[in-house]
Amino acid sequence: MQVPSPLTELRDERLRARDVRLYLKRDDLISPDIPGNKWRKLKYNLIAAREQGHHTLLTFGGAYSNHIRATAAAGARYGFDTIGVVRGEEHLPLNDSLTRAVKHGMRLAYLDRTTYRRKTEPDVLAALADEFGDFYLLPEGGTNALALQGCQELPAEIAPDFDVLCCACGTGGTLAGLAAGLRPGQRALGFSALKGGEFLAGDVRRLQIDAFGAETGNWAIDVESHFGGYAKRTPALDEFVADFRQRHDVTLDWVYVAKMLHGVFDRVRTGVFPAGTAVVAVVTG
Ligand SMILES: *Cc1c(COP(=O)(O)O)cnc(C)c1O
Repeated sequence: MQVPSPLTELRDERLRARDVRLYLKRDDLISPDIPGNKWRKLKYNLIAAREQGHHTLLTFGGAYSNHIRATAAAGARYGFDTIGVVRGEEHLPLNDSLTRAVKHGMRLAYLDRTTYRRKTEPDVLAALADEFGDFYLLPEGGTNALALQGCQELPAEIAPDFDVLCCACGTGGTLAGLAAGLRPGQRALGFSALKGGEFLAGDVRRLQIDAFGAETGNWAIDVESHFGGYAKRTPALDEFVADFRQRHDVTLDWVYVAKMLHGVFDRVRTGVFPAGTAVVAVVTG
């Protein structure tokens, strides 16, 4: 585990032209199997699971969930059995993400979409306990109060002064935790990877109240940078990823990170960040 993760400053004429400094917080380099925000979100959950005497982790996700794959790898590394409950039916052969999960010893179960929607209701959880025995439950996407605590630790790893901390949002758990770790005057800015991300603000507020007893009020969410929706891409996004690779030799995850960074550069270009602003963008995976 490479924690603290590296911080690198980008040299880019688009930034120089606007007198904006931009750093990448390379959480994608924390571990090849448990990258980025998934590691931070799991950390205190793994400690709690062990303290409570659990031997098995159970979690939920779509077939392409980074969180399912990360949970499988974390279980293998820290000595937990793992069960991944996947939305929808089984498709064989398994995709790359689920193949890697199974290689780490994860058992997979499938819930039809109707049941999946009710996955946190007592009868569904009881049926899973009948099938798999006792388990520590990690919610979908790994987002809960302990996950926020793990993300809250990130800002203290950043040595240079900065004004804005940017990250991509799926459930909003990462943004909620990061914002709680900022110093007075600093702000967090999330970029929704989903279309219709307006609901996220309410979720982030609720998550912060649940985890910290109060909302922090120092964050905002951009809901316009989704490129058509979750796991949707456009030629413009692909072009941005290719151009970024050529300029900076970093291959961006296009589901989350590229959309966030595209939004950041858009704000630079249109002068939304005043001259002199220092921005840190978290490469969450
Ligand atoms: C899961 C994931 C996110 C979303 O994190 P949330 O805490 O659910 O908002 C962002 N970036 C990457 C790379 C991810 O895998």
